[in-house]
Amino acid sequence: MISIADIKQFFKGEILVNEPLNKHTSIKIGGPADLLLLPSDKGDAINLSVYLQQNGIDYSVIGNGSNILVSDAGIREIVINFEQGLKQIKLVDGLVEVESGVMLARFVDFCIQNGKQGVEKLAGIPGTIGGAIVMNASAYKYEISDYIVDVEVVRNGKLIRVKKQDANFAYRTSAFLNDIIISAVFELPDGNIDEMQKTRIEYLQKRNLTQPLNYPNSGSVFKNPPGNYAAKLIEDADLKGLRIGNAQISEKHANFIVNLGNAKAEDVLGLIQTCKEIVEQKFDVYLELELKLLGFGKSE
Ligand SMILES: Cc1cc2nc3c(=O)[nH]c(=O)nc-3n(C[C@H](O)[C@H](O)[C@H](O)COP(=O)(O)OP(=O)(O)OC[C@H]3O[C@@H](n4cnc5c(N)ncnc54)[C@H](O)[C@@H]3O)c2cc1C
Repeated sequence: MISIADIKQFFKGEILVNEPLNKHTSIKIGGPADLLLLPSDKGDAINLSVYLQQNGIDYSVIGNGSNILVSDAGIREIVINFEQGLKQIKLVDGLVEVESGVMLARFVDFCIQNGKQGVEKLAGIPGTIGGAIVMNASAYKYEISDYIVDVEVVRNGKLIRVKKQDANFAYRTSAFLNDIIISAVFELPDGNIDEMQKTRIEYLQKRNLTQPLNYPNSGSVFKNPPGNYAAKLIEDADLKGLRIGNAQISEKHANFIVNLGNAKAEDVLGLIQTCKEIVEQKFDVYLELELKLLGFGKSE
C-alpha cells in the first residue's frame, strides 16, 4: 500500500489511520479502514482519484454508508469519503450543479428553495449525491436519474463527464460502479414551492410509518425481484423477526435488517444467506443483494 508520506505529497485533506468504519455506516457495523482519506475540496478529490487509478492502487469509496455492509475485519485498502470536502451546491443558468458529498436531504431542500421540482420524494433517503447516483436511488416511482444532465467522474485515471444517456441507469444500478463520482448537473422543471414542501413532508411521514427508523439499518437489503417484493417473500417465508446475534430481520419491514446493539457483519451475512436460501427453496425466487458488501474479498 502507498505510504502516508507519499499521499501527503499531493493530498491536502484529512488522513485517518485505522479508522473504525462502524462510525461511518448507518447500520453502525464495520471494522477499521487502514486509511480513510477525506479530501479537502474538489481539486484535492480529483488529484487523489486520478493518482489512485493511474497507479493501480486499490481503494473503496463510501458515501454516507447507508447502503453498505463493511466486514468485521474492516478494509485493508484506502477508503475515500467526500462528505467533508465536496459539499458545494449552486444554481447556474437554471441548472443545479452539486458535488458528490452533498447529502440528498440538503440537495432536495436546495431545489425546493429555488423552485426546482422533481426530487421532493427522495428527501428521506439518507445518502450522498455520489451514493445516490451510483445506486440510482429511487422512492415512490421517482429516481435520482430522472433529471440528471451529466455526471463528472474519474474513470480509468481521467476526469470525464458522462451524459445521462450513457450512464446505463436502471433499477438500483448505473454505469458508475467502478468510477469515482465528483459532481453532477441536474435540470429540473420549475414548480410551486409550497406544493413541493407539502409533498416532501407527506413522503417523509410515509417513510416513518413503514421503515424501522428506530434501529440502525442499511436500507433495503435485497432488490425487489421482477413483479414481486423482497419484503413480501421474506415475510411469507416466515422469516420476519428472525435473529442472529444482535442482527434481526425487522419486525416492521422484512427487507430491512436492523442492528439491535453491537451486531456483527457476520450476523447480518447469516441472515442474508438464510433469506436467500429459504426464499429460493419455498418460492423458487432468487434474491439479489441491493446492499453493497465491502471488505469481504473478491467474491463480494
Ligand atoms: C433508513 C434508510 C432508508 C433508505 N431508503 C431508500 C430509498 O427509499 N430508496 C433508495 O434507493 N435507497 C434507500 N436507502 C439506501 C441508501 O440510502 C441509498 O442507496 C443511498 O443512495 C446510498 O448513498 P450513500 O451515500 O450512503 O452511499 P453508500 O451506502 O456509502 O455507498 C453505496 C455505493 O455507492 C458507492 N459510492 C458512494 N459514493 C460514491 C462516489 N462519490 N463515487 C463512486 N462511488 C460511490 C459505494 O462505493 C457503494 O458501492 C435507504 C437507506 C436507509 C438506511
